[in-house]
Amino acid sequence: MRFINQMKLEFLSIPANVAFARVAVAAFASQIDYTLPDLEEIKVAVSEAVGNSIIHGYGNAPDRVVKVHAALTMDTLEIMVEDEGIGIEDIDKALEPAFSTDDERLGLGFMFMHSFMDSLQVDSAPGRGTVVKMSKRTGTGVTRIGTEQ
Ligand code: ATP
Ligand code: MG
Repeated sequence: MRFINQMKLEFLSIPANVAFARVAVAAFASQIDYTLPDLEEIKVAVSEAVGNSIIHGYGNAPDRVVKVHAALTMDTLEIMVEDEGIGIEDIDKALEPAFSTDDERLGLGFMFMHSFMDSLQVDSAPGRGTVVKMSKRTGTGVTRIGTEQ
């Protein structure tokens, strides 16, 4: 795959950086032909992944590091969100809708990532941190229906 642009972010595991990461990735992604709803979906997926790193991976400790890598081809965004936190014991279980290890959460983060992105891959092991990889293609041309004569 030929990338036309790539970027890396590293930031502390504080909640304010969830908003920073989603805006930064959306600004980066807007270099290719996404619709505004696409960009909103990308923002949600990034927020959920970065939030998970901070909340679950690092147990809300504010002094750890979350890394986000993003790359663009002409029509696809690839994102990696990485932490060195506690890791996930059972990835299949974690990916189930409404599963959470925290009674007070809904367990919907991975469901949003899965439904808003075209691919989702989770690499994790207890004590080894977590890497979430996602990709999304630009629109299928639906918005242009009716413009051709
Ligand atoms: P919500 O996202 O709705 O607030 P949630 O975060 O529990 O709830 P998901 O985002 O779907 O739900 O994550 C499911 C579970 O996977 C989490 O409860 C947690 O146990 C585990 N998990 C997800 N990301 C990580 C991570 N980066 N490190 C450790 N565990 C994680
Ligand atoms: Mg979550």
